[in-house]
Amino acid sequence: MEPYAKIYQLQELIETKRAADRPGPYKVGVDLGTADVVLVVTDSEGNPVAGSMEWASVVKDGLVVDFRGATEIVERLKKEVEGILGVTLDKGATAIPPGTVGRNAAACGHVIAGAGLDPVCQVDEPVAAARALGIKDGIVIDIGGGTTGVAVLKNGEIVLSEDEATGGTHITLVLAGAFHISTDEAEKMKRDSSRHKQLLPVILPVIEKMATIVRNMLAGHGEYDDYPVYVVGGTAYLTNFGEEFSKAFGRTVHVPPHPLLVTPLGIAMFA
Ligand code: ATP
Repeated sequence: MEPYAKIYQLQELIETKRAADRPGPYKVGVDLGTADVVLVVTDSEGNPVAGSMEWASVVKDGLVVDFRGATEIVERLKKEVEGILGVTLDKGATAIPPGTVGRNAAACGHVIAGAGLDPVCQVDEPVAAARALGIKDGIVIDIGGGTTGVAVLKNGEIVLSEDEATGGTHITLVLAGAFHISTDEAEKMKRDSSRHKQLLPVILPVIEKMATIVRNMLAGHGEYDDYPVYVVGGTAYLTNFGEEFSKAFGRTVHVPPHPLLVTPLGIAMFA
């Protein structure tokens, strides 16, 4: 299957809560994010088989801040997917933002172990995204809840990476301030695509800031000027996000379908 076809199918499987008819053995990936937790199952070739997700605030910028809450969510997702698949899942892979070390890096493995999944491997998030996208050389920009992360991959390995605090949460805060509403209401407003055109002028400065973070990081690295650039992470769901980001960044970026699911799919492929 082509990378984008896999992502479309994964979204459909999660939405319809069903399993694709593919034989095991299965691989499991768990993405513990600032805004959500996603569990993905693939077959041995990395084709999606099932998945589940929950919105959550158990992680902040790659750090597990609510260990018990995170474990309980993974337990729930595991149980749901096991019910859909009719098999027991016993091991899985996790991912961390590049540069996460020590106890913080170990925490994701402990979370899934606590939920009954033996942690078999831990991968850098952009490496997982690149695997799902089927690229070895390229630039992966990950704009999730808390941060804008950028990583340059050469031959599948990270050669340059940086993470800065500006993400989807900041867009929500700007909307809450501009419309004098709570952050919960602003979050709902942001996810309503029928309002995106109206919201764009308000959130454009945040998108420009994200593009500036990436431009600054790549300054002086002309050797990567011809690398393809992909934006993953839930913030890229915003209508015309790719176009506006490209304008501010000064380079064309690709936004894959369902950008929130790219990294979780890639994590499972590493299990
Ligand atoms: P991080 O990478 O910072 O740890 P995360 O992995 O939880 O966070 P993602 O799951 O990639 O991040 O994305 C979550 C962000 O995407 C949230 O800020 C959320 O508001 C935003 N988001 C999700 N769906 C949409 C949507 N339909 N439109 C706009 N933004 C969205």
